[in-house]
Amino acid sequence: MWNRFPDAILFAGGTEHLHLQGQRLVHLSGMVLFLDKLDDIQKITRTERYLELGAMVRLSTIRSLGKAVPEILVQCLEHLADPYIREIATIGGNIACNGDLNAPFLALDAQYEVRSGASTRWISYSRLFSPKSMLEPQTLLSRIRIPLGQWNYHRYNKFESPIIGDRASVCVIIARIEKDMIVDIRLVITASDRYFRNREHERILAGKHLPISQQDFYSFIDHWKESLSKSDFRSFVQKNIIDFLESNLLELCD
Ligand SMILES: Cc1cc2nc3c(=O)[nH]c(=O)nc-3n(C[C@H](O)[C@H](O)[C@H](O)COP(=O)(O)OP(=O)(O)OC[C@H]3O[C@@H](n4cnc5c(N)ncnc54)[C@H](O)[C@@H]3O)c2cc1C
Repeated sequence: MWNRFPDAILFAGGTEHLHLQGQRLVHLSGMVLFLDKLDDIQKITRTERYLELGAMVRLSTIRSLGKAVPEILVQCLEHLADPYIREIATIGGNIACNGDLNAPFLALDAQYEVRSGASTRWISYSRLFSPKSMLEPQTLLSRIRIPLGQWNYHRYNKFESPIIGDRASVCVIIARIEKDMIVDIRLVITASDRYFRNREHERILAGKHLPISQQDFYSFIDHWKESLSKSDFRSFVQKNIIDFLESNLLELCD
């Protein structure tokens, strides 16, 4: 279809396309390719190691998969739009428009399958500068694969922006804590088309016994402050992120 109609756009649930279009007749530019009838990208597969979701899986369906879904993803879904939008919106559409789900997917080291007319390839999310960068023109996001880790600590927050047109910032922390030791920890912040994850910062806490010492806690926070000050996150976003980290990680301190 893209060979015949190079400017055609993809339409999944349509909630982003129609967002902020309050008038009676909605506007969609050019030819629209409706993905609803493509069975291949509606499937859900679960193995012992991962959960795989077709791009056209509705957000409400993910929620109904119960324990198969990582808790941090559940928390993020609960704060995404409202139940009516979640009935219609799809996972592929959310990722493609830099939606909230990119934060948990990045933390969980998810992978995406993207297809163009010529090729099909898997991309590790963590390799991308921004989620949108994987979707070149005439590319279909077809599946997402989420590794099922043993995460037993999850913290989530979302900050709406006072600036019109800015997307909310989403902050997530996941960790695996065993016998009072932080075996693995990941922290991800997304805001509009930018995200932040720093494995060196994570290593300050990984391997540490609980409670975390004051020294490790402040070293961790100082590293984040320094990195954020060099980032292009807005200053109020930086402040919200630090508040989020401090308030959540303090509960792990002595
Ligand atoms: C009232 C309201 C509240 C909202 N609140 C939130 C919120 O809290 N958090 C949030 O993240 N979003 C929010 N949204 C935005 C949007 O609804 C969601 O991000 C939704 O998940 C988009 O999915 P969709 O299937 O409706 O995408 P669509 O509108 O169909 O498509 C969105 C974009 O993705 C592209 N696309 C869709 N599927 C694919 C695919 N498989 N491969 C490649 N490109 C694709 C489309 O071409 C389009 O550019 C809100 C929208 C509304 C209307």
